[in-house]
Amino acid sequence: MNPTGQPGRAPASQAPTGAVEDACVPPPAGLTTDQLRGVNCVWCGEKLGLSAVDLGVRRDPQCPWASWFPRACPPCHRPRSTGGSR
Ligand SMILES: [Zn+2]
Repeated sequence: MNPTGQPGRAPASQAPTGAVEDACVPPPAGLTTDQLRGVNCVWCGEKLGLSAVDLGVRRDPQCPWASWFPRACPPCHRPRSTGGSR
């Protein structure tokens, strides 16, 4: 359990499905609130459905105390993903 309500750090064996390099994720300063919340794709801004890829919690370099939660649609995520062999 997690009484503080803080998101726990995921163990390495349970990495987010969409491992993407930080450099590939757009700077949060240029994104909409919905993109920061993972409601819309970080890249194309499309509203995300069940197939959305979770990119994991990110820290805003401008606001290290704040976290944001990028998600992406599969067509945007696939070419940028560092996970997998292809
Ligand atoms: Zn997209």
